[in-house]
Amino acid sequence: MQDYVFAPPAVVAVPVQGGGAFPVRRVFCVGRNYAAHAREMGGDPNREPPFFFTKPADALLTMGADLPYPPATSDVHHEMELVVAIGQGGAEIAEDAALAHVWGYAAGLDMTRRDLQAQAKKDSRPWDMAKGFDHSAPIGVLRPVAVGGHPGQGAITLRVNGEQRQSGDLSHMIWSVPETIAYLSRLVRLAPGDLIFTGTPDGVASVLRGDVLDGEIEGVGTVHTRIV
Ligand code: MN
Repeated sequence: MQDYVFAPPAVVAVPVQGGGAFPVRRVFCVGRNYAAHAREMGGDPNREPPFFFTKPADALLTMGADLPYPPATSDVHHEMELVVAIGQGGAEIAEDAALAHVWGYAAGLDMTRRDLQAQAKKDSRPWDMAKGFDHSAPIGVLRPVAVGGHPGQGAITLRVNGEQRQSGDLSHMIWSVPETIAYLSRLVRLAPGDLIFTGTPDGVASVLRGDVLDGEIEGVGTVHTRIV
């Protein structure tokens, strides 16, 4: 038993469809994984290898909780994304073995302080404060692979106050889930509890206090939050 100098933080966990909770270790995110979004951000979808950034696990926002408008920004964007939950760890995972490492899937939002990100890009600085702020990762209920398998395709949509803002299909990802896992596992050893946000389709835009966000991924689930 460690003699901690204060009580350690609670384990961050995502509720699972059918009961139970998935304990989260790390949160990885893929940048620009849909061609139309890469183009709307000024990138070239044909030339960039996948790149990754992270958020702290305790940035996750579960159970449809409200999202307090974050400080130090006037331009917070929604990015609607498929989230992959890793159940079995590993390094240098082969593409054709990658899906065996997945425990489940969820719908999530990679909320972004776009103004801070634009400044970071301009200054060649890290994205951490643009991407990893408190409550920056709303996530819905995790749907186990054992319940619904692996979604290779399906509509991914986001409505804001009932109006459709983002619409795409999982089959439009530049890097598939197996390719993403294979690539990321060559950079770090993946571990049970890791989450991977897999990038957003086009249509990202600002949110305001009072906005209600409802995301849905066909065959996976939903994510809901309100900006307060
Ligand atoms: Mn994103």
